[in-house]
Amino acid sequence: MRRSRKVKILATSGPASSDEAMIAKLFDAGTDVFRINMSHTDHDLMRTLVARIRSVEEKAGRPIGILADLQGPKLRVGKFKNTKEELSIGQTFTLDDNPELGDATRVHLPHPEILAAVEAGDRLLIDDGKLALKAVKTDKRSIQCVVVAGTWISDKKGVSLPDTDLPVGALTDKDRKDLDAVLEAGVDWVALSFIQRPEDLAEARKIARGRALLMSKIEKPQAVTRLAEIIELSDALMVARGDLGVEMPIEAVPGIQKQITRAARRAGKPVVVATQMLESMITSPVPTRAEVSDVATAIFEGADAVMLSAESAAGQYPVEAVARMNRIAEEVESDPNYRAIITGQRTPPEQTGADAIADAARQIAETLELSAIICWTGSGSTGLRVSRERPKSPIIALSPNIDTGRRLSLAWGVHCVITEDAHNMSDVVSRACRLAFRDGFAKPGQRVIVVAGLPLGTPGATNMLRIAFVGNDVEDL
Ligand code: PGA
Ligand code: MN
Repeated sequence: MRRSRKVKILATSGPASSDEAMIAKLFDAGTDVFRINMSHTDHDLMRTLVARIRSVEEKAGRPIGILADLQGPKLRVGKFKNTKEELSIGQTFTLDDNPELGDATRVHLPHPEILAAVEAGDRLLIDDGKLALKAVKTDKRSIQCVVVAGTWISDKKGVSLPDTDLPVGALTDKDRKDLDAVLEAGVDWVALSFIQRPEDLAEARKIARGRALLMSKIEKPQAVTRLAEIIELSDALMVARGDLGVEMPIEAVPGIQKQITRAARRAGKPVVVATQMLESMITSPVPTRAEVSDVATAIFEGADAVMLSAESAAGQYPVEAVARMNRIAEEVESDPNYRAIITGQRTPPEQTGADAIADAARQIAETLELSAIICWTGSGSTGLRVSRERPKSPIIALSPNIDTGRRLSLAWGVHCVITEDAHNMSDVVSRACRLAFRDGFAKPGQRVIVVAGLPLGTPGATNMLRIAFVGNDVEDL
């Protein structure tokens, strides 16, 4: 079973998509990686979802990726006497450290470090920006604000602080507990929300100890400012357009999406474009033209993956949404302009053996019109460097390591196959030919290119490429 597109599809699991039959349908429709949102999933349900996805994987005989998305330091106001209050523009409203229920003049903000960090002039955006406040006076224990826009405030609404450097790391106590649980459950990727600085990755990296890779969600202006350093320390990126569109002017998001996508591609780190991609499909079987165009734009730009959130987690048409993304991807990738746009964003190889080989493999595959580039990759790094080239030929990553296959299921164009450890190079080549044939990438008489590092099993030692002929005996092997 193979996909007929390069870009990958992430679908968020939720009430609409958590039983095993539905997970299987979403996989069949095109889901490559399932996202478990820890803001809405308790540990028991998370473990159940992981087990169901692994069971679908087992039946499919192909690695499926699992991404656990940690909530991060999402700030919220306390509760109100009357659940909600209507405010008027120009009035004063205070956030403070008083745990009593709020009214039309004040509410509790249960984050003392934030009360101390906000300065006069900073904006406070409540409920995804529907209510905008500006701080006028602060005394470390309360923030007196003036209402700038909007009206309603109610229990537990989120607070975004685009102007304030928050004195918090990326992991809350809840995140630490969630992180332990998801690592224990064996997820492949962990997404970190609201990171602001490169240092914010350090704690999760230390806790993960290589058990999962880290995806940085770019959703704060502070993270955009330090993008290059954050990319350097991350294994993958997410353009988290939901919160980004609250923290930044919404019209800045498309440009930032391009900036993040291109920088991640240059670095060879997978990049996911997320949020509201097919939003209207939460309640409608057909997306809007604008949504289709948005998905297409991300694919034309060469993003590794496009993501569904509520569409697959809680919508009425989860399978249709995945199938629609799949069709958009197939259409875009066969568009006459697609190759030129993708190639236009390609950057030269870095001065490493792996990149030189990846670049050469792509060129040889193009010149000879080879059916596939097959990389033998233990850790997955060779697979990623070949993916970075965005070659026209399919990429097959052969690995003896199931974790590698699962992780690479996020990467552009990579078809992952788990195979036993190879004994030597001729073993690698014959296996490469046989699996390329088995999965429908090459026919007898065609040629493929095989990339590996010798001696086999030495991480980062990519040093060999070979053009191999798929023999007529491949069917008997
Ligand atoms: P979220 O992240 O869905 O966890 O908020 C994605 C985003 O902000 O776009
Ligand atoms: Mn977010």
